[in-house]
Amino acid sequence: MDSFETGLYIHIPFCRRKCPYCDFYITTNGKWIDQYCSALIKELAYLKHRFNPILKTVYLGGGTPSFLPLSCLENLFSYISETFEINSNAEWTIEINPEDVNTELISLLKNSPINRVSLGVQSFYDEDLRFLGRTHSSREALLTIEKLKPIIPNISVDIIYGLPSQSSREIIQTLELLKNLEIPHFSAYLLTIEYRTLFGVMARQSILSIDENKQAELFTILVEKSENLGYIQYEISNFALEKSFFSKHNLLYWLNDNVLNAGPGAHGSWTAPNLALMRWRRINRRNIYLWIEAYMHTTFPFPSVSYEFPLSTKEFFNEVILNGLRTMWGINLLWLKTVFPERYVSDLVAQAKEFIDSGFLSLCNESLILTRSGKLYADYIAASLMIP
Ligand code: SF4
Repeated sequence: MDSFETGLYIHIPFCRRKCPYCDFYITTNGKWIDQYCSALIKELAYLKHRFNPILKTVYLGGGTPSFLPLSCLENLFSYISETFEINSNAEWTIEINPEDVNTELISLLKNSPINRVSLGVQSFYDEDLRFLGRTHSSREALLTIEKLKPIIPNISVDIIYGLPSQSSREIIQTLELLKNLEIPHFSAYLLTIEYRTLFGVMARQSILSIDENKQAELFTILVEKSENLGYIQYEISNFALEKSFFSKHNLLYWLNDNVLNAGPGAHGSWTAPNLALMRWRRINRRNIYLWIEAYMHTTFPFPSVSYEFPLSTKEFFNEVILNGLRTMWGINLLWLKTVFPERYVSDLVAQAKEFIDSGFLSLCNESLILTRSGKLYADYIAASLMIP
């Protein structure tokens, strides 16, 4: 493959303990850390050899990247910087949990290429943090923000909303606090009950339940209040004070650009150069043991843990609908026509009509965009617009 521009996502699957709502691929078994760090370098070497990419973004997600030993992080930063061609304005993000931030980590970040931090605060209320099984306190989160701000001003804070006990007042106060702290970007995720989690078990036993009407109310308050405070909702769950703080890496997913993946459980996608319709997916198995075995002890191309396959035209089209609808730019029909068969686009326009008529979608400059009320039903509308 010719050299091509892409983001790089690295999945770091270690956590202190499993949060009861989390469905990500993680392990709490630290005995794999050393081997993981070695195998990761092998997979990155493979990606360099296989794709010869130019990196636009580097994203260390998880899991808890800040849980890795500092020597491993340091080695990883050096390896990536020395091995790959990297754009001079590349965004380097690391996800950090407040309880991991100490003088040593701060000093490492200060001397690293990292220029954006995604901080797993989740809530500024201790009661919520306990409910979510988090190990940090609200005070720790605030102190962490104070420590990080002078080093890396581009901070994004993750919050979770829609908790059973949460009030609209709490949402409003949280957003006001973010603005007062001059946090330029936050991601607000709705609490969902995933089957394979402790909350999933509790829901099946009727110990826990979620009131979807109340969640919809909280979402509406979140959207209105963040707008009043000057945050731009550029994606359903993502808000920034200015365009320059939009997550460059996550935009690659939402705008169907290229992302290569490394680490167990990580997903990547790309469009082959000169083949606008050929969208590829690369998925690593959610099994750290097999992933380490493959990358440490077998030779290229490691087919047993990294599945690589093209999407069908229909699958790619549906992905574009799903992603596009979540963004403030919506789905651009003119672009769709240049990439997909004409009948896909005409069917989409016909399906969209009822949502336009009922005020859930707008057609603006040839783009289908969710209205404020439409955002409440984003998943339903996307599913209705996709090709079955
Ligand atoms: S929510 Fe974050 S810290 Fe908790 S288990 Fe999942 S990845 Fe780990």
